[in-house]
Amino acid sequence: MTKPYDFLIVGAGYAGSVCAERLAAAGRRVLLIDRRPHIGGNAYDCLNAQGVLIHPYGPHIFHTNARRVFDYLGGFTRWRFYEHRVLAKVGRQFLPIPINRVTINRLYGLELDEAGVAAHLERVREPKNEIRTSLDVVLNSVGGDLCDKFFSGYTKKQWGLDLSELAAGVAARIPTRTNDDDRYFTDRFQFMPEQGYARMFETMLAHPNIEVRLGTDFAELRRDIPASKVIYTGPIDFYFDYRFGKLPYRSLEFQHEHRPEDAYQPVGTINYPNEEDYTRITEFKKLTGQVCAGTAIVREFPRAEGDPYYPVPRPENELLFKRYQTLADQEEEVHFVGRLAQYRYYNMDQVVAASLALTDKILGRQVAQR
Ligand code: FAD
Ligand code: UDP
Repeated sequence: MTKPYDFLIVGAGYAGSVCAERLAAAGRRVLLIDRRPHIGGNAYDCLNAQGVLIHPYGPHIFHTNARRVFDYLGGFTRWRFYEHRVLAKVGRQFLPIPINRVTINRLYGLELDEAGVAAHLERVREPKNEIRTSLDVVLNSVGGDLCDKFFSGYTKKQWGLDLSELAAGVAARIPTRTNDDDRYFTDRFQFMPEQGYARMFETMLAHPNIEVRLGTDFAELRRDIPASKVIYTGPIDFYFDYRFGKLPYRSLEFQHEHRPEDAYQPVGTINYPNEEDYTRITEFKKLTGQVCAGTAIVREFPRAEGDPYYPVPRPENELLFKRYQTLADQEEEVHFVGRLAQYRYYNMDQVVAASLALTDKILGRQVAQR
């Protein structure tokens, strides 16, 4: 029996949408479903009641070193140049994070030049022969005092775990600098989609070979899949009915607030590593460049339960994931891609790259078979 679609794609975030667009452009008929009432996954944006563009699932800043990813997405949006800057509240001070020359000088009342900061860090760092955990990363680069002030509390809040319980890659996302560069990211391409993420996804999915069905859970179609092949981008443990137990995903509660003033804080995000219950406050207008009256902010409160937002990178979780991955490899007509399905702490650009690689492989194979 021929099926009405070539591909059923589960999840309309980056992973599902990029796959849908690539396959549709190559002539495949695609049914793209999402259990949520909108496309874009966690990168979705929309206007709040007062007309300010917000990111309901937390702040999303696009940055990449991959020209292919940047050019690909550029086919669906114009870009607005934006470099993200973050301050961290330590005591009564708001200091640049990643830690740089200004951070060290203001925190300790010093006037060091670059060489002086390098020498300072060399004195205070606790060199590690083997870098295994996030604690090793931080102690090895900045030592105990800066670790306590900037990293320990934030990490405890964000993950409910100690730095020593997380893989090195988590803290390694944050570099240490001896110069005055206060950008959060140093990637070659740092831009926001000019009309927002949702608009970019709409353009991406406007192909006549793509049918989008929202508010539709994979569970509803599972018994009688209307396609020859499936691309699954949801949590991998859900797909296999939690056969080996639940993979931990960290969740967040977002507290959105509209404010009457035109600007709320000096930079896009302020991190709160210590006293507060939330990890950070982001002001969306700083990211989007929107000019309007009033402003909108979001506070992020980490949670153990709720929507799965972050895979939790630590060795035992990686082992459990590998068991699921072995099952996934045996599913002949199903491909798994994306942050939840691959259980990787991926940024948006990495998900796009993984999805482009997958569709290259799928199309390459099919072309070769013909
Ligand atoms: P998702 O966006 O999670 O999409 C998966 C989709 O699948 C969801 O829409 C879900 O509803 C759907 N789904 C799941 N199960 C089912 C089912 N059974 N049936 C139907 N649908 C299903 N990255 C950056 O590059 N820069 C940033 O600044 C940045 N900030 C972030 C901030 C936060 C708070 C978070 C949580 C992430 C951030 N990211 C950022 C990461 C970024 O969100 C992800 O890399 C990217 O959105 C992942 O895309 P995805 O398609 O893999 O997954
Ligand atoms: N981190 C920290 N203090 C900070 C910023 C980051 O301890 O001020 C650590 C923390 O463990 C965090 C990780 O570095 O989870 C990665 O931070 P990033 O800002 O990349 O997190 P994301 O934006 O993905 O939530």
